[in-house]
Amino acid sequence: MSGPQSYEYAIIGGGIHGTCLANYLLAEGGCTHQDLCLVEPREQLLASFETKARQCGMQTLRSTFVHHIGTEPFSLESFAEGANREDELVSTENYPNRPTLELFLDHARDVIGRRDIDECHRQSRATGVTGTGAGDRLEVQTDVGSLDARHVVLAIGLGGSRTLPTWGTSLPDDAPLVHVWDDEFDPTTAAEFSGPTFVVGGGITAGQLACRLSEHTDVTLLSRHDIDIELTEADPYWINWRHIEQEIHTLPPGSKARRDQIRAARNDATIPPYVERRLDEARDCGDLDIQRGEIASAYATDEGLLVRFDDGTTATNAQVVLATGLDPVPEHPLVGSVAESLSLERGAGGFPVLDDRTLAWRGTDGTDSAVYVSGALAELSVGPFARNVVGARRVAERLLESRARAGSKRALSAPRGKS
Ligand SMILES: Cc1cc2nc3c(=O)[nH]c(=O)nc-3n(C[C@H](O)[C@H](O)[C@H](O)COP(=O)(O)OP(=O)(O)OC[C@H]3O[C@@H](n4cnc5c(N)ncnc54)[C@H](O)[C@@H]3O)c2cc1C
Repeated sequence: MSGPQSYEYAIIGGGIHGTCLANYLLAEGGCTHQDLCLVEPREQLLASFETKARQCGMQTLRSTFVHHIGTEPFSLESFAEGANREDELVSTENYPNRPTLELFLDHARDVIGRRDIDECHRQSRATGVTGTGAGDRLEVQTDVGSLDARHVVLAIGLGGSRTLPTWGTSLPDDAPLVHVWDDEFDPTTAAEFSGPTFVVGGGITAGQLACRLSEHTDVTLLSRHDIDIELTEADPYWINWRHIEQEIHTLPPGSKARRDQIRAARNDATIPPYVERRLDEARDCGDLDIQRGEIASAYATDEGLLVRFDDGTTATNAQVVLATGLDPVPEHPLVGSVAESLSLERGAGGFPVLDDRTLAWRGTDGTDSAVYVSGALAELSVGPFARNVVGARRVAERLLESRARAGSKRALSAPRGKS
């Protein structure tokens, strides 16, 4: 009887990070397609990012044209030139050009196609990772069976469930309350709602969504804080390992001090100037209103929601679209289950405690496991840009370095052949 299929790497999550990492391992890590398995429940790699981007009406990336899933920094620019699409590299004041969403995705599809990364895609959801009892190998359980791997990388994305306010929990399922990241959310349908629409949130997602919906219907952007304007998600020097090492790795691994430092560095819940301009234009045309406040309660009526705000005012026949983010990624069920089954250490906020040099998740006994982490979940070692596109490249660099170190150690310890 044959056992589960064996791989060198099982990457859990075929989003931006998992796919970028697979590309690096194939291009520069000496891996073949038989060595890699990308466990991803969606039919297409990158579908999670693409769906979210379309659902919120994103037109351009916030990051620059050198941030993409390829291994060559200028490959997106060359791709644009080759396809006569340089006009999709949008110029930005005090910042390098940013690609349109379509250009970014087409380049990513080109990278996937050229490297046949789809060959590594196993369409399934990982439900657990356990030891096999056979040396250093791990077993990944999925909803379509198990597989076996020497290394497992968790690249499961931004978070688990959508963050919902308490006032929304008792509304009936068919009430016009939706979250922008609901799988079934469709901005075209939301734009057809006949009553007033309230977009709740104060960050870039809420800003883009409010602009998108205001093209067709009356929209109020409701934020509990003043709209803050920042071009980038953190100062660009946080992209460099040297800065991360100085500012983060000098603090105790997994500590609250690290988490606080990263929180302070991230420009969360901010809007870049070019989205602010879109908001201003929509407001000037009378299609959009921006209000500071919160919803205190909401009731379902036949024509929509009766919404009561914290200043005592009300709105009737309304729909509410939440752009309030996702629960923190350490709450993703797989994180707890992997930590428990392999006795792995968790630090502040439940984040994995990683070896900063290898990004291996540390065991509670202080040794490095063969589970590695990428994306938002790696924040305590990779810093404020961990979740971003460039964070995937930073993780790939560390994994390739530790792979090269392990390779040279093996070569040194192997018996010498006769000369
Ligand atoms: C709308 C939007 C715009 C953004 N714009 C930018 C930008 O311009 N620049 C930038 O640098 N960053 C941007 N980001 C941030 C970040 O780059 C993206 O969120 C990116 O998608 C993160 O990559 P990821 O692989 O961590 O997550 P994802 O791309 O979401 O991929 C995670 C994958 O893990 C899979 N998964 C989850 N659980 C399991 C499981 N149990 N088993 C198997 N698979 C699982 C999911 O199905 C998903 O496909 C943006 C984010 C959003 C939401």
